[in-house]
Amino acid sequence: MIRRNTPAKEAVLNILTLAGKAMSQDAIEQEIDLEINRATIYRILNSFCDDGILHRIVADDGKQYFAISDKSDQNKKFESHYHFKCLQCERIECLPVEVTFSISDDYLVQNVNCILTGVCKSCRTL
Ligand SMILES: [Zn+2]
Ligand SMILES: [Zn+2]
Repeated sequence: MIRRNTPAKEAVLNILTLAGKAMSQDAIEQEIDLEINRATIYRILNSFCDDGILHRIVADDGKQYFAISDKSDQNKKFESHYHFKCLQCERIECLPVEVTFSISDDYLVQNVNCILTGVCKSCRTL
């Protein structure tokens, strides 16, 4: 079944693609120029996460951020990479660094949330 993207879905995806960083729902709402209510945006974000188009990041402030999943390497698990949050510009980006760990098989890992904080590349060169 081919799922057709609605204009609202297209808009959310466009904003995140152009941003090239993770965004909170609030930030996405501010960028969107269509009349969409919060609940709809929330539903869109969740369905994109379920489809693996987006992934969710919980930052150190407890807020949820959303980022485009990089599908360039189909064999990798996209959930398990590090994220970097800049404490100066508050930009959150995906790092191309896989999170590796070893844990007993007794545990079923369903989510990995690793976020590094510091000063990003562009803030350091300012
Ligand atoms: Zn920065
Ligand atoms: Zn990411």
